[in-house]
Amino acid sequence: MENLNIALIGCGMIGREHIERIQNRIRGAQIVAVCDVFEEGAKKGAEIAGAGTKVYTDFNEAINDPDVNAVVVTTPGQFHKGPVLAAIKAGKPVFSEKPLANTAADGKEIVEAEMAGGKHLVQVGFMRRYDRGYRQVKELIDSGKFGAPMVIKCTHRADGVADDYTTAMAVTDTAIHEIDVLPWLVNDEWDEVQCIMPKTNSKVKNALKDPQIMIMKTKGGIINMLEVNVNCGFGYDINCEVVCENGVVNLPCPSFPTVRYANEVSTKIEDNWILRFIDSYDVEIQDWVDHALKGETGGSSAWDGYVASITADALVKSQTSGVPEKVVTGGTPNFYKK
Ligand code: NAP
Repeated sequence: MENLNIALIGCGMIGREHIERIQNRIRGAQIVAVCDVFEEGAKKGAEIAGAGTKVYTDFNEAINDPDVNAVVVTTPGQFHKGPVLAAIKAGKPVFSEKPLANTAADGKEIVEAEMAGGKHLVQVGFMRRYDRGYRQVKELIDSGKFGAPMVIKCTHRADGVADDYTTAMAVTDTAIHEIDVLPWLVNDEWDEVQCIMPKTNSKVKNALKDPQIMIMKTKGGIINMLEVNVNCGFGYDINCEVVCENGVVNLPCPSFPTVRYANEVSTKIEDNWILRFIDSYDVEIQDWVDHALKGETGGSSAWDGYVASITADALVKSQTSGVPEKVVTGGTPNFYKK
């Protein structure tokens, strides 16, 4: 394969971002077809992709178009399974935005289909693995200079959320990034996870519980404390500190100047996730394209996506039970061992 001719399924917010990205900044790939259940949405996607882009409202037709040899899925999470399975069936490499699926049951179906096909075709869009800062932290930890990691302290704070954001989404939409990136960062696997609820922010006007504290233990005994706080009101604030035996490694924040003014020292906090991780999306999609052209996958596999969904299910269970819940994966199949 010399070039990826992509059908992009789901022309919403991030779908349109990826169309623009692929057409303008990614080598070795182009969007040749777009699909959205809402025809106007698909046409909008085609407008961004440029003249000649085919427009579909049925993802099966788009994926099986003979001019298409790769697929990007950017529908909402609960609708990832259909197009991902269709791409596997067609034998075409597929990049699925995170999460791979909204439930572990759907993730399992995808993993089983991929294994049955005998070919690695699925990459999941957990872009933090491509973030420069996380990569620097991983390099330092992997150097062994600071000894073994013991404790991780993270915050995932956002300015505010839409009215339909639910308590479970704090896990399935928000913490899902830490669920995937942290085991990769410290070369471990989740063992048990617990969610506890502090006093809710008085700005919340519906049934949402916010903030939430997630305490997550790895099989190797590392404890992560994650604060999910999506009504913080001051920006998109991602922090991660890894406490090792002989030192502490902190995720670098995007570099904004420090300003001394009016008896204060201040540094800007990023407004939103698009700006905070803008560079990592480019690196991630380019890496997917480069791997797919060689018949390979990079980044998070379908198995990683499935394990993230199992972990998310356990955390959501703990939101109600209040006690630690086990993360039971049954062990990595040989097909996915690296
Ligand atoms: P969105 O704006 O709601 O866009 C989803 C689009 O997919 C909508 O246009 C929707 O059409 C369409 N769609 C739904 N079902 C479809 C189907 N069966 N076939 C074709 N099109 C379909 O959502 P978004 O915010 O872009 O998020 C999309 C995905 O990206 C989610 O999984 C989200 O978690 C992920 N995401 C990832 C990141 C990241 O940091 N990696 C950031 C943002 C989003 P209708 O509106 O007509 O239903």
